[in-house]
Amino acid sequence: MPELPEVELVKRSLERTVEEKGIGAISFSDYIYKGHEIGRRTIIKENLESFKKKVDGAYIKKIGRRGKYLYFIMEKDGGVFHLISHLGMSGAFFVADSIEQIKDLNYRRHWQVSIPLSDGQSLVYSDIRRFGEMSTVDRMIDFPPFKRMALEYTHPDSLAEFIEKIKDPGRSNKAIKALIMDSTVIPGVGNIYASEALFMSGISPVRKAGNISVERLTKLHQAIVEVFELSLSRGGSTISDYRGISGERGSMQDRFKVYQKKVCPSCEAPLKTKTIAGRNTFYCTNCQR
Ligand SMILES: [Zn+2]
Repeated sequence: MPELPEVELVKRSLERTVEEKGIGAISFSDYIYKGHEIGRRTIIKENLESFKKKVDGAYIKKIGRRGKYLYFIMEKDGGVFHLISHLGMSGAFFVADSIEQIKDLNYRRHWQVSIPLSDGQSLVYSDIRRFGEMSTVDRMIDFPPFKRMALEYTHPDSLAEFIEKIKDPGRSNKAIKALIMDSTVIPGVGNIYASEALFMSGISPVRKAGNISVERLTKLHQAIVEVFELSLSRGGSTISDYRGISGERGSMQDRFKVYQKKVCPSCEAPLKTKTIAGRNTFYCTNCQR
């Protein structure tokens, strides 16, 4: 599943390729039409016709990212609205001359939304497992997940908010790993970077949040920043499903210390795996306390 660095990299590429371009008439895949016919709202989380009516003919003013969401600031008929997108488990955007130009067969077959651009290219959203989402809102604050989302890790007050949220007495019994994957504590940390940042800061993922000192939480926040920045510099992680907009793969997976590893890189003891917050967690019981 793409986490913050992967979504940020998609944002940066889309800035270069689709910002300040107009949009023609959108097409949807048969998967989307069929899903909507049976009331499942596949990918497009609102009425298909009204979504299309709203987006067709709009102008992409700006692209941004909040947590693991991408947003497109759109202009149309003198007004502004926002198209918000989540890549789900396996979503990817491609900018290509046509759907047939998408190199990876699986993504080509599973194109879901095709948006013709004013420069003759198309912005294509592909999603093999179809857990991705797109919806429109007039104002960003109208989108429910943004209402409670914590500050971005780059914000100067992110560390203070991170500590305050973790030290909240209502959360003191929760495993620290579950909290750092909660976007109301810090946005954008998924299963991979949670395991990596906890290892880097020497904190056991199962430790109860209330028992961790402010000093160690500060280290943990620093480790999250560090692992995000390293991943951004390595083009993100390509485990199975993440692709850049031209189909490129990242190499952060070559730098993982514990995620999907068997042996601790520090003490060489076998790593432990355990399901926490529904996801497989990798950690060292010697090095992480
Ligand atoms: Zn170790």
